Amino acid sequence: MWLDLRPDTPGGILACMPEKRIVIVGGVAGGMSCAARARRLDETAEIIVLERGDEVSFANCGLPYYVGGEIESRDALLVQTPESLRAAFDLDVRVRHDVIALDTDARQVTVRTAEGTSTIDYDALVLSPGARAVRPPLPGLDSPRVRTLRTVGDAIALRDRVESGAKRAVVLGAGFIGVEAAEALRMQGLEVDVIELAPHILPPLEAELASLIRDEMARAGITVREGVGAERVEPGETHDTVVLGDGTRIPADIIVLSVGVRPDTEAFEAAGIEVERGAIVVDEHGRTSAPGVWAVGDAVVSTDAVTGIRRPVALAGPANRAGRLVADDILRPSTARPIPTPLGTAIVRMGELAAAMTGANRASLEQAGIEFETLHLHPNQHAGYFPGAQQVHLIVHFAPGDGRLLGAQAVGADGVDKRIDVLATALRAGMTVDDLIDLDLSYSPPYGQAKDPVNLAGMAGENLLRGTLSVWHADELEAVTSEALVLDVRSRGEFASGHIPGSLNIPHTELRDRMPEVHDAAAGRPVRALCASGVRSNIAHRQLAQAGLDSATLSGGILTLKAALPNGGRDILTTQGAES
Ligand SMILES: Cc1cc2nc3c(=O)[nH]c(=O)nc-3n(C[C@H](O)[C@H](O)[C@H](O)COP(=O)(O)OP(=O)(O)OC[C@H]3O[C@@H](n4cnc5c(N)ncnc54)[C@H](O)[C@@H]3O)c2cc1C
Repeated sequence: MWLDLRPDTPGGILACMPEKRIVIVGGVAGGMSCAARARRLDETAEIIVLERGDEVSFANCGLPYYVGGEIESRDALLVQTPESLRAAFDLDVRVRHDVIALDTDARQVTVRTAEGTSTIDYDALVLSPGARAVRPPLPGLDSPRVRTLRTVGDAIALRDRVESGAKRAVVLGAGFIGVEAAEALRMQGLEVDVIELAPHILPPLEAELASLIRDEMARAGITVREGVGAERVEPGETHDTVVLGDGTRIPADIIVLSVGVRPDTEAFEAAGIEVERGAIVVDEHGRTSAPGVWAVGDAVVSTDAVTGIRRPVALAGPANRAGRLVADDILRPSTARPIPTPLGTAIVRMGELAAAMTGANRASLEQAGIEFETLHLHPNQHAGYFPGAQQVHLIVHFAPGDGRLLGAQAVGADGVDKRIDVLATALRAGMTVDDLIDLDLSYSPPYGQAKDPVNLAGMAGENLLRGTLSVWHADELEAVTSEALVLDVRSRGEFASGHIPGSLNIPHTELRDRMPEVHDAAAGRPVRALCASGVRSNIAHRQLAQAGLDSATLSGGILTLKAALPNGGRDILTTQGAES
């Protein structure tokens, strides 16, 4: 076969070779990136793209914004057409061509079209079939009012229903697509209920950040129900009714099913391609278990860059980049770079806020048995004195021994994308948390801080690594209140607005003079300091530690505590005893 015999030198002999056929299954993110790159590398190859749907190269990430009306025209979703791809790249793009079987010995795929079935031979085959929406076995999900959001057709159907007078929507599943769908439908003026079976929305986000997004959804008028699932959909004449596990009944004109995706790989698994829990197993160049067959995108299993956990990563960036690298491996293998292990960097908007993440979260670190330390910070995105300053709620996980960065997440109204992208770059570069101090980031008052939030995370991390800082965390509250003196160093007014029962209030500016009081109140117990965000209690901590006390400061302060506690801490924090 041409692939195996061809010398590895780029150019040269390659151009003299007889035409070869690259067949690509799936004409969107990974598949189309591969096709375009293959053409840029080789003008002689025959490149056929087989796509089951009606469109190729469509903006699947843009679909929710079409439903919400921000993207006005459906034409904007169609980035390319078969005709434009023929003109620009000489690609043979065949829509409504469903690949239903594969013979890896004969190097042949079987395709079903409206006209019947036929076979196509290949020299190299690239599988980029993506993922399908999971459809749990719930009664009533076949109602026509239930819709997934994966294709242009889905988005058009949802917007048509909105425009023809739908008033109430229920979104089942509050992952990224569910949150985007809920926001879109709310923007169109519908009453929206979001149902999430997991304990909190956006399950990959840490609970104390997810609660900020949940509050933002509530502010936008979306009803969020967490920790409860849908049991069935009861179809009706004028509307359907979604019945939840706790008996709640919610009327709905539209039901969006967004409870997750699974790799769309059945035809390839049946052909003997190795899969792991439905996802195609590939090597670092995207090669599958069958010679001459590559796979990329949502359909493949990836090894997480931080934890080593193997799972599919359903994100557009990794799919696009892997498609490009697979074309390199097919056409110039000697210089093809390996496909990097993904970090899962992602971002989602909800109302005025963005939530973003990169690397591992607490749950995956625990699952992988990796020890970690966590920082919570709430710095402003730009100079506090410049109008419009807003907090970036930032979490950074790192290894306590060598300081290796493990993951980061942030929520805020502005500047979240910049911080997470910088941290994603740092993670990819294998940096340690204290390396973040040295990052030379752009600054002027409207854009940042002379000590950027990322630098500040580095400083706090270095302090923790070197023992200059000790922290306690919101989930230790019960143990702390029973075993330690809780020292609240906020102002009297802040203390009066809500504090941990039994805590002692000494504003940080008075602490030096009142240190004997702390010694007396502690009576040999540890002192656990806190303030609003962790800045003032760190100043206090340094004084307490140097006064010989066993001291630690609450990571992220009362802001993080409230976000981590059920009901925003209202059941625990008290305004009683504020005079103490
Ligand atoms: C609503 C929505 C919003 C999203 N937003 C974001 C975002 O903001 N950021 C982000 O990073 N990611 C986002 N994603 C995820 C991102 O779109 C996917 O990770 C990415 O498209 C995966 O690329 P892929 O090539 O693996 O699959 P896809 O791009 O899904 O393409 C697969 C194509 O293969 C076709 N196909 C499947 N099987 C066959 C077959 N047997 N024969 C022929 N054709 C077949 C399918 O019809 C499909 O068109 C979003 C996804 C959706 C649905």
